[in-house]
Order: sequence, then C-alpha cells, then structure tokens
Amino acid sequence: MNVIFLGPPGAGKGTIAKEIKDLANVIHLSTGDMLREEMRNGTELGKMAKQYIEEGKLVPDEVIIGMVESKLKSSDKGILFDGFPRTVDQAKALDQFAKIDAVINLYTTVDVIVKRVGGRRICRDCGKVFNTSWYDSDRCDECGGELYTRTDDTEETIKKRYEVYVEQTEPLVDYYREKGILHDIDANGEIQEKVDKIKAIFDNVQ
Ligand code: ATP
Ligand code: MG
Repeated sequence: MNVIFLGPPGAGKGTIAKEIKDLANVIHLSTGDMLREEMRNGTELGKMAKQYIEEGKLVPDEVIIGMVESKLKSSDKGILFDGFPRTVDQAKALDQFAKIDAVINLYTTVDVIVKRVGGRRICRDCGKVFNTSWYDSDRCDECGGELYTRTDDTEETIKKRYEVYVEQTEPLVDYYREKGILHDIDANGEIQEKVDKIKAIFDNVQ
C-alpha cells in the first residue's frame, strides 16, 4: 500500500508519519529528510539543494524524482510519501513508478503554520519534532539529543514556503480528488486524534 501525505509546511506530515509508519508497516519516505541528510554529508546533491531550501524554493523536479526513484527500487514494502510529490510534474512521474492507494490532505491555515514552524525544534540525533509552545527543554525526551532549529524555519522563509505551497503543491489536491483517492484531515488538534483517523483510512484501503 502506498500513501501520500499532502499539506503545507508545518501541517504535521513528518510528525504523524513517524507515529504511523510502524502501525501501518510502511516505509517513511521524506524527501525533506533525505535532502537534509545529503546536506549534512556535504554531497554535491546536498550543496545544490541547500541554496533552494534556504530560499524557501523547491529543489528542481528532476533531482527530486531521481532521488525518490532510486529509493523505491530498493524497497519491497509499501511507502508513506511525506513531502513528495510537491508539483504536478512530480505527481505524474510518481504515477509511472508506483500505484497510489490514498492521499491524506492535512489542511490548515497560514496563521497556524507561521506559528507552528516558527516554534519548531528538531532532535539532531533521532529527528523527533518538538514545539516551543509545549516543550521548553533543549534536549530530546526520548534520546537526550540536542534540539535545533532548521535554517529554513525563519519567519521570512516560512512565508515564502507557504506561497510556494499554494502555487505549486496545492493543485495536487484537485489532481488526487479527481482520482477519487483524496481524504481530507483537519491538521489542527491533537496528534493522537489525527493518527487514529488516518490509521482508520489505512485499514480501509488495505
Ligand atoms: P514539514 O513542515 O511537514 O516538514 P516542510 O515543507 O517544512 O514540511 P520538508 O518537507 O522537510 O519541509 O522540505 C524542506 C525543503 O526541502 C522544501 O522547502 C524544499 O526546498 C525541499 N524539498 C523537499 N521535498 C521536495 C520536493 N518533493 N520537491 C522539491 N523540493 C523539495
Ligand atoms: Mg517534513
């Protein structure tokens, strides 16, 4: 089973994906996490991606599509796509190499996003996501790792990323609605409540 998590930056795609991947026995494929790993390792791809990411722009389609395709080849499990596809061309490319069973549209408003992404902190060691609105330590409660702020989580970049989302990614809502596989989930509210709703959708499509 292959599922896509769609939604603006800060909608909670990564947080929910981490919760649900074991319950649903799927691989969590986050293009943002893959790019950040390339940046940490200082690869050519990472250096190239950094410029786009820090300006809040999308990394070119051909780079992203190549990266996802090579990851898919090495997997025989279902995939939970987080942050991919982000353009109609990426979605069309994905249709060529995977059958998508469901798309979860995590919708919210721009004010919520600016607030959430502005307070976001991430564990350097295990990747767990926190927010200063409910967590005030600078160490991870699971592994003790140091928490950091992503360099693209500044107020200016967040607004740019939201604009890019509206222009380039939001058209995918209609693209998948027309295919009859879109499920709308309100991104506000408790994480567990959203995990439960999404798990029920997974169980229905399986
Ligand atoms: P979230 O808040 O849910 O983690 P996000 O939009 O803040 O979502 P990532 O998904 O981690 O963050 O992506 C970070 C950046 O990496 C994007 O702003 C973009 O520059 C780049 N990126 C990630 N995935 C793609 C993609 N599919 N196509 C193009 N660029 C991408
Ligand atoms: Mg993410």
